[in-house]
Amino acid sequence: MTVSNDPAASETPATPDAGLPGKQGYDPHGVEERWYRFWEEKGLFHADETSTGSPYCIVIPPPNVTGSLHMGHALNNTLQDILIRWHRMRGDNSLWMPGTDHAGIATQNVVERKLRQEGLTREDVGREAFVERVWQWKRESGGTIIRQLKTLGTSCDWERERFTLDPGLSNAVREVFCRLYDAGLIYRGDYIINWCPRCRTALSDLEVEHQERDGKLWHIRYPLVSGTGEVIVATTRPETMLGDTAVAVHPEDERFRALLGQRVLLPVMGREIPIIADAYVDREFGTGVVKVTPAHDPKDFECGLRHNLPQIKVIADDGRMLASAGAYAGEDRFICRKNLVKQLEREGLLVKIEEHRHAVGQCYRCQTVVEPSLSRQWFVKMAPLAEPAIQAVETGRIRIIPAQWEKTYFEWMRNIRDWCISRQIWWGHRIPAWYCDPCGETIVSRTTPQACPRCGGTVARENQGSRGLLPDRLPRHRV
Ligand SMILES: [Zn+2]
Ligand SMILES: [Zn+2]
Repeated sequence: MTVSNDPAASETPATPDAGLPGKQGYDPHGVEERWYRFWEEKGLFHADETSTGSPYCIVIPPPNVTGSLHMGHALNNTLQDILIRWHRMRGDNSLWMPGTDHAGIATQNVVERKLRQEGLTREDVGREAFVERVWQWKRESGGTIIRQLKTLGTSCDWERERFTLDPGLSNAVREVFCRLYDAGLIYRGDYIINWCPRCRTALSDLEVEHQERDGKLWHIRYPLVSGTGEVIVATTRPETMLGDTAVAVHPEDERFRALLGQRVLLPVMGREIPIIADAYVDREFGTGVVKVTPAHDPKDFECGLRHNLPQIKVIADDGRMLASAGAYAGEDRFICRKNLVKQLEREGLLVKIEEHRHAVGQCYRCQTVVEPSLSRQWFVKMAPLAEPAIQAVETGRIRIIPAQWEKTYFEWMRNIRDWCISRQIWWGHRIPAWYCDPCGETIVSRTTPQACPRCGGTVARENQGSRGLLPDRLPRHRV
């Protein structure tokens, strides 16, 4: 028996064996499309709010609207489908709630690429027109993954499908932000974050991919100010040395005991910086002396706080060197690296160059090498949120299988870093914060404030077409 894809032949299947494999093999189109349409037309996936069955509900982890199915989706959606169909057959009022995620950076990149084909950037078209273009792209091309989920046979309640930028969901985001802010769990601060100089946005730790690469380890001489010797520092990112504010050794490293309290002259910049002792130094790495660049390395940042070191940012948000980089101001960070190494060589300060394989962090969306950078961003305080998750496993309420991974879990949860939630992109929810010009107050609010609660100011200044207090004066934020 052959199966036809002719719609006329695919009315309600009379018998379940219609389209079963025959001599010519199994044609899934004839069977699966027909049955899927049958299920949908009969509303079999729709949860009825008046039903008296006991409720059973799964909210789909929303796939990216830019996405297409991969094996991971096939696996996790099949598991959800099995559970939801089982409960449906038991007579439960079963809802599998579907939707897609607006996928901020990924979607913005897709539309930016299209603009580039027209010779335009997002800045050329402006925020409002750009966001309108993204919506247009979403309407025309954003449905691939939903069609694919249907092809998989997933029994979602499609009448209830949502998108994370729908008004209801956007209000929920604002509500959660305000609640966490009021509870002291969201704050704004200056910390080291991962920065993508191409996307020009902050990234969370999870949005950075670490790839093993063949790199180099440059050994550089830092002369003692006293003129009685030198220390040799090894680094994989020599351009960051322009922002060094100390060099550090391990407090128990006998080799360098006599140097503690002395100062070195930072090459090229000619700045005097102290030699400090800190247990974060890995004695085995390089020479055992490390440079400390608090504005461009997360561990150096922490070390800098412990020792009250200045933070000198030398790389700008576009990946070019800042004025604080002296003669290298304006150069791209990698060109600066080359030229700086040449200068060190000329001045006899380059001891040697070693081949060095190491993990390099890159942007998960554009593969540009990420720059750890000091930046003012919004964060979620993670320790209080990790605590109940730790307890749940400690008390056995949640079991990790196999049990040997418990240790990894606890290590992760106990050392968790605060989560950077702001992104400098245009496609996404804006952080509901306003900054008062006259008094500097930050106002976090569920609704757009009409006046500053602190000084009463109502600065009527034009901002993106809206009047009132200046919303979001800094680069646009997204949750
Ligand atoms: Zn990027
Ligand atoms: Zn004010």
